[in-house]
Amino acid sequence: MARTCVWCDAPLPEPKGKGHRRRDFCNNICKQKHYVWHKQMRHDVAKLEEPFWHNAYRVLVEQYKGLEHRLQITMDHLSKAIIDVEKLQESRKYHMDKLEKMRNDYHARMKAAGMSKQDINEFDDYWKDLFKYDPYGLDLD
Ligand SMILES: [Zn+2]
Repeated sequence: MARTCVWCDAPLPEPKGKGHRRRDFCNNICKQKHYVWHKQMRHDVAKLEEPFWHNAYRVLVEQYKGLEHRLQITMDHLSKAIIDVEKLQESRKYHMDKLEKMRNDYHARMKAAGMSKQDINEFDDYWKDLFKYDPYGLDLD
């Protein structure tokens, strides 16, 4: 495929012979126009780079650092919260076991005292209502 002028896309003449450089432009006007355009581009890029992009990049870096910092704080809170939840679950299990033992003990005492099945069931309803505590709607047990 024949080479064309970088600026105007016109076909370029073949090099005259060995030792002749391959031309990029059809004439000096195109060469000059390309040079001016290129210079303008570099100028525009430098202008954009300088205050705007450089600043935008710095802002992004600061935002990233801030987000990473906030993420770290959140992760710290989360790991503390997980430890708290584990302690609460342990504590809850301890007290639930203790309550279950107490209920079984009451059952044995009520039976020994000759109370009816119905009385014991009523006591159970009362007991369940008394220790029903599920503020987060987790429906534990
Ligand atoms: Zn040209």
